[in-house]
Amino acid sequence: MKICSICHKISGTNDDHTNCKEKLRIELEAEDFKKSIPEKLDIMKNPDDISSDLKALMGHMSREKKES
Ligand SMILES: [Zn+2]
Repeated sequence: MKICSICHKISGTNDDHTNCKEKLRIELEAEDFKKSIPEKLDIMKNPDDISSDLKALMGHMSREKKES
């Protein structure tokens, strides 16, 4: 018997709980994902530029729709 190093409860096997390891893996992946978000946000750092471009594009598209 062994104490699970993740939840610190007794594990019936000689290893950490499989679901605890899975949970930890998912949490680590979530952490990695969170760390990667700022990089993605950097691209969006000038939302005003993007939104004005987008507004122009949307305005153009809606104008086209009205004309047709
Ligand atoms: Zn556990």
